[in-house]
Amino acid sequence: MKRRTFIKTASLAGAATMMRGEVISRDRAEVMSNKNSAPRGPVIVSTWDFGREVPETAYRTLQQGGTVVDAVERAVMIPEADPKVTSVGYGGYPDRDGKVTLDACIMDGEGNCGSVVFLEHIIHPVSVARLVMEKTQHVILAGEGALQFALENGFKRENLLTKEADAAYKEWLKTSSYKPQKVDEHNHDTIGLLAMDGKGNMAGACTTSGMAWKIHGRVGDSPIIGAGLYVDSDVGGATSTGLGEAVIKVAGSFLIVELMRNGKSPQEACKIALERIVHKQPKYAKGNDFLAGFVAMTKDGEVGAMSYRKGLQYSLHKDGVISVVDAEYMVK
Ligand code: ASP
Repeated sequence: MKRRTFIKTASLAGAATMMRGEVISRDRAEVMSNKNSAPRGPVIVSTWDFGREVPETAYRTLQQGGTVVDAVERAVMIPEADPKVTSVGYGGYPDRDGKVTLDACIMDGEGNCGSVVFLEHIIHPVSVARLVMEKTQHVILAGEGALQFALENGFKRENLLTKEADAAYKEWLKTSSYKPQKVDEHNHDTIGLLAMDGKGNMAGACTTSGMAWKIHGRVGDSPIIGAGLYVDSDVGGATSTGLGEAVIKVAGSFLIVELMRNGKSPQEACKIALERIVHKQPKYAKGNDFLAGFVAMTKDGEVGAMSYRKGLQYSLHKDGVISVVDAEYMVK
């Protein structure tokens, strides 16, 4: 099942404040975000729509006394374990050599962070990234070393290539000439998730199998602190999806947090970051297949999101309501 077909909207308490399947507009989302109010409770925002279980899990974790780091980790573990999600974790599409290689990172608002890149055989890369953050003096572990570290710490070695992903890979091989594919709506969709617990604590997590059919060894933006994710509880956080190479080139998530630090709203900051990408690298604006998008949140729970082209959605859990919102986009 594609993410787009998941249930779009649901009321947390079961009271039908919104219709099932309703996608709310950004204007209405802004009303919901109520810029002038102090943080009233958890706010959870993530790229795309991976189903209501994702924000619900983050929320429930906080309600049960978990930390924001627990909340973001547990939430993104859901698509990591879902074989139907072909862009994250188990079931992710492989690279052009048929290998599923995963990228993930996690960061809290105090500057603690951990990341794994080019990791194979581990179903929950975000949890390995958390262990890197909490149990080592390093930030990033890569490839074989990351796998060795995971196995030493009790993670199980597994085959992440599902029958379905393998079939899609074999199909791709027929016509591919072994050329990596451009990012399009079928071969991307990272989950980047930000959470704020209402007491000023923030964290984020980002996890992906990266671009389908990528060159073996390729690492995208998602596990790169400052590119795919950045969180600073003095300001807020940002996370990205889409063509990782473009996001890395402008240190996209860090840029957005710094813009917010200097007074820009999350919405303005996301827009400026996208403008920076195409200003510096106009090639991305040529043709019609460039996709990149950001989701950002201030420490007060104000949310913004923008993509270069139409199509980005984000999932928002705010004021007890879960909704899926169409993000604004640059190219009309
Ligand atoms: N940003 C991811 C990457 O480049 C892919 C995506 O989000 O679509 O690996």
